[in-house]
Amino acid sequence: MTAQNLPSEPEFEQAYKELASTLENSTLFQKKPEYRKALQVVSVPERVLQFRVVWEDDAGNVQINRGFRVQFNSALGPYKGGLRFHPSVNLSILKFLGFEQIFKNALTGLNMGGGKGGSDFDPKGKSDNEIRRFCVSFMTELCKHIGQDTDVPAGDIGVTGREVGFMFGQYKKIRNQWEGVLTGKGGSWGGSLIRPEATGYGVVYYVDHMIKHASGGKESFVGKRVAVSGSGNVAQYAALKVIELGGSVVSLSDSQGALVLATEEGSFTAEEIEQIAAIKVERKQIAELASTAAFSSKFKYIPGARPWTNIVGRIDVALPSATQNEVSGEEAKALIAAGCKFIAEGSNMGSTQEAIDVFEAHREANQGGAAIWYAPGKAANAGGVAVSGLEMAQNSSRVSWTREEVDSRLKGIMEDCFNNGLATAKEYVPSAEGSLPSLVAGSNIAGFTKVAEAMKDHGDWW
Ligand code: GLU
Repeated sequence: MTAQNLPSEPEFEQAYKELASTLENSTLFQKKPEYRKALQVVSVPERVLQFRVVWEDDAGNVQINRGFRVQFNSALGPYKGGLRFHPSVNLSILKFLGFEQIFKNALTGLNMGGGKGGSDFDPKGKSDNEIRRFCVSFMTELCKHIGQDTDVPAGDIGVTGREVGFMFGQYKKIRNQWEGVLTGKGGSWGGSLIRPEATGYGVVYYVDHMIKHASGGKESFVGKRVAVSGSGNVAQYAALKVIELGGSVVSLSDSQGALVLATEEGSFTAEEIEQIAAIKVERKQIAELASTAAFSSKFKYIPGARPWTNIVGRIDVALPSATQNEVSGEEAKALIAAGCKFIAEGSNMGSTQEAIDVFEAHREANQGGAAIWYAPGKAANAGGVAVSGLEMAQNSSRVSWTREEVDSRLKGIMEDCFNNGLATAKEYVPSAEGSLPSLVAGSNIAGFTKVAEAMKDHGDWW
């Protein structure tokens, strides 16, 4: 990993170090020293594609963006992972996301490899026609490299059902094949019910297990005050599920600022979340709603801020659901000081390494406060890609399952994901007496060993 001739890839190096350090600090390498070789091999992508995307804006100008697909690991199944359209996208970010995706997908128990892709295209401020022309151009190249048994992309930041539709249409035209090459499709043309809701619902199902396990079954989301960041697909459905389960949502945010309850009582309502969802479809900012009479009388809007240090009153649960590195070490301390006992990432690598270190240092209750449960994105947000896996299964067998069927499978997968992380932590991670098991280490080890074993069977390392 420290080869001299490699370009600096800060986000990827952060994701690699986070995984490697948890393996290193466990008993895994003592029990299986050969896994050090597997770690070296798994951390290099099987293939990286980079291509030019030229498209025409509404004024008739030529626009140029970079397109990428990182086909990271196919030991467990076809490469699987989303596409991100955001101006920050570069190879380091996509390698970190693809790397996380390998182990996340392994934790779902479904047969999916890991990949990620996207573009530095910025959907903000673009017309629907511009987005369509960009998607068509992007897929004109990407379609040469993907397929239902090769690589199955989906959405991520900046890619919703609308973009998936435009890309699916172009794939179908060029390849003359209707196949489940993308997930997150529209319900009437092969998409799975519950896929839009799955990541957010899944995070909340996961936390429900954390709360029940921590309280010996006595507590639930009822009465819990939940700070959520973000206002995209993950944050919206996490917030709605929290409300459905009897909790209060005390914040949401976007890249421009945070919207928090102005008093210690109450919650966002489902209707308010629907209003935020509606402006997000139009690619508008929360600030526009925050200034209306209905919102400004109930909420405080803090421009340029994240919610964590701005919540009024107690926090029980924090669900970072915006983007990577959205909780700093200082913000992690502030969350704990506000009473937060459960942190679970709806976003990928939502916490900085400093924040993880703060949470992990509080697995012992005797540090002047309650013990902290921290779940990394690769476990807590696996519900999205899990239902993508269920969409692939439905497409292959040419059937559609009911909402109830998909939701109950999602619940089962999130429960397994939690139990697997917990049991693996108990087996491999030395913990002080009275300290909680490390879900981050347990999940990393469980995902890694599954992939490493399959790679060994394939002769990828020996
Ligand atoms: N982008 C989502 C993730 O980070 C979903 C990927 C998928 O459904 O393939 O897991």
